[in-house]
This record gives sequence, structure tokens and C-alpha cells, in this order.
Amino acid sequence: MEENHFRCETCGSPMVRRRVASYDVSGLVGFNHVLVEDFEATVCKRDPSHETMVLDGSLIDFVVAAVAKMIVEHIPSLTQQEVRFLRKFLECTQTKLGEWLGVDRVTVGRWETGETPMPVATAQAIRGRVMAQLSASWPKLMPRAEADRVFKKPEPRPAQFVVQARNLEAAAAC
Ligand SMILES: [Zn+2]
Repeated sequence: MEENHFRCETCGSPMVRRRVASYDVSGLVGFNHVLVEDFEATVCKRDPSHETMVLDGSLIDFVVAAVAKMIVEHIPSLTQQEVRFLRKFLECTQTKLGEWLGVDRVTVGRWETGETPMPVATAQAIRGRVMAQLSASWPKLMPRAEADRVFKKPEPRPAQFVVQARNLEAAAAC
């Protein structure tokens, strides 16, 4: 196993590339309960369970796109967390998204705090825009066959989304 310049923050050991069975990336992608399964990362050589783990940027980009895809394809209406997540996926400020939808920043803020529900037509408009952005970027992130392996896991909790990244390295090499 090839060592690199990273050191484990827990024990100071060198870090190596290893396959990781499962990891909660909720904090990294800004959405609750997102697990990634079976992927390669840079982990502590002495004890891979140490929390210091360096995930590839390409993996995070893929997971963010995968969660956006799951939201727009499988969820009938948008929760406050989903509105916020999709706005960030579209790289919009509240003001910019509001301008596009014909509402002010305060209204967008209310959708994101759950103070007022987003109208269904507005959710559909956002969904359309997210789908357009995904169709442009998805093939670069993952071959079509792999897209189908991203799925919503109904049980057991707390995993809300599970992304299997088994062949991500091969995809990145294309
Ligand atoms: Zn360590």
C-alpha cells in the first residue's frame, strides 16, 4: 500500500489508500443520513476506523449529484432541507434563486426554514432545472449503468440515502 503525505490526526500514523465499507458523509454533502458504501479513500494505516479520513473530491461531487438526483426523481414534494440542498447544488444564493423564481430572498428563506411550504409548481420548476444540470454533468460523474445503483434505502434507519461507489475509480478514468 502506497503511503502519502497525510498523517492521521488521531494517532499520527501514515495514511494509505484503502477500500472503505461504509461511511456517513452527511456533514460533507450537507444532507442528513447519507451513507457511501464500498469506496476507496485515504485512511489511517494503523487503524482504519480512526475518524481522520480523506475522501476524494470526485467522490463528494458524485455523492452530491446522486443525492440531488434521488431528491428530484423520487420525492414528490420538497422539504426545507431539500430546498436548501438543491439551491446549493444549483450554486444559487437565496437572492439569485428568488430572482429566477420571481420571489424575494425572504420567501426563499421561509421555504428553507419550513416557515412556509414551497408551492408545488415552484418545486417542479426547481426539479426541472436540477434535472437539466444533472443531465449535463452526470455522464462525467458516472456511467449510465452505475446511476441505477444509487438508491434510497428504506430500512434500516438512519441511512436515508446509500450511494454505492464501487466502480467510481473506473468511471473517473474514462
Ligand atoms: Zn490513526
